[in-house]
Amino acid sequence: MKATASQHRRRGRPTIRDKNRRPVPVRPDRDQSMEWFFEEVPQDKFYEALQLSGDKRFYRLYDALHDPAYRNTSPMTLCRKLHISLTDLHDLWRKHNLHLGMIRLSTSLPEVLDDICEDAKSRETACPSCEGIGEITHGPIKVRCAVCEGIGYRANARVRTCAADTFSDPRAIQTWGS
Ligand SMILES: [Zn+2]
Repeated sequence: MKATASQHRRRGRPTIRDKNRRPVPVRPDRDQSMEWFFEEVPQDKFYEALQLSGDKRFYRLYDALHDPAYRNTSPMTLCRKLHISLTDLHDLWRKHNLHLGMIRLSTSLPEVLDDICEDAKSRETACPSCEGIGEITHGPIKVRCAVCEGIGYRANARVRTCAADTFSDPRAIQTWGS
């Protein structure tokens, strides 16, 4: 990692930048963002991701994390020694989980597609507004159901609910009144 001096140093906390231009403290064990990463990510799953990465730097990190010689060395320090940035860790973790998710999705895909296909089929259902009668009694007046337009059913239901305003609007009753 080629570290360059930051132009925007915080007073009393000298920082440099990592290879992705992220400001990092001079002492890697004080890298708070990377520390959060190691605190949040489940260790066993992270080890799996390292071993499946196909990347020599991550293999070396895996070995170092299991090496008694480095038992007192923070993972942040090991990452810096191995030129692994926080962006590298994020990329590894995201890709690893994306692969796992895609495998699970692919396994469930036949059932999911069956459900989508079934839901998309055309069907007729009784109008939920007039319960299939085609008109609605509002006091002494019967009005044609505005949802199904008096048919009593809806094909493959893009059903709107009859707005209460429809019945209180005299113009609506005049228009549809029987
Ligand atoms: Zn209706």
